[in-house]
Amino acid sequence: MWLFVQGLATQSFASRLGDKMNIYPVKGYSITIDLKDELSKSCAPSVSLIDQPVKIVASRLGDRFRVAGTAELAGINTDIRQNRIRPLLDWVEKYFPNVSTETYTPWAGLRPMTPNMMPITSESRMKGVFYHAGHGHLGWTLSAETANQVVAKIEAAS
Ligand SMILES: Cc1cc2nc3c(=O)[nH]c(=O)nc-3n(C[C@H](O)[C@H](O)[C@H](O)COP(=O)(O)OP(=O)(O)OC[C@H]3O[C@@H](n4cnc5c(N)ncnc54)[C@H](O)[C@@H]3O)c2cc1C
Repeated sequence: MWLFVQGLATQSFASRLGDKMNIYPVKGYSITIDLKDELSKSCAPSVSLIDQPVKIVASRLGDRFRVAGTAELAGINTDIRQNRIRPLLDWVEKYFPNVSTETYTPWAGLRPMTPNMMPITSESRMKGVFYHAGHGHLGWTLSAETANQVVAKIEAAS
């Protein structure tokens, strides 16, 4: 039997198996704007954007527009602070003034970040346990390939 371990809770699980790792929660925020009127729908971008200097990313999800950013060190805490949401709204209002920000859903999540920002794809000291964790701010982007790497390690160990 194989066991995969993912996410922020990996660290406490690993310590019980005698494995050492550092995964820190780096809090990020997003707003998902409902594009209700025709003007907002036509003026919201249809491609994904990265505003590198301010580290804000934006994606169109059908009739919704999601804008995310911020790196906050606050431990395991997903409280939504309005002073972190405001810059995301300001960014939309500055670059897409015809997109109405009247209706939006704020969200906060914890990125499982390692010190060198590299995901952990190693086998535990306990045979049959493989880690696939610590993808930080790029979990959706990297996880398909890192999953392949974990599979290769499992096959090599079989
Ligand atoms: C605001 C924000 C924007 C982001 N934008 C992007 C982006 O544009 N592109 C990108 O590639 N990545 C992005 N990320 C990063 C991406 O979301 C993470 O890298 C990814 O979610 C990590 O996946 P994971 O499965 O390791 O952990 P998680 O997604 O945290 O999943 C862990 C799961 O384990 C569950 N769990 C916790 N404890 C236990 C337990 N004891 N027992 C059972 N289950 C448990 C949790 O409920 C959770 O469902 C963003 C993150 C944030 C916060």
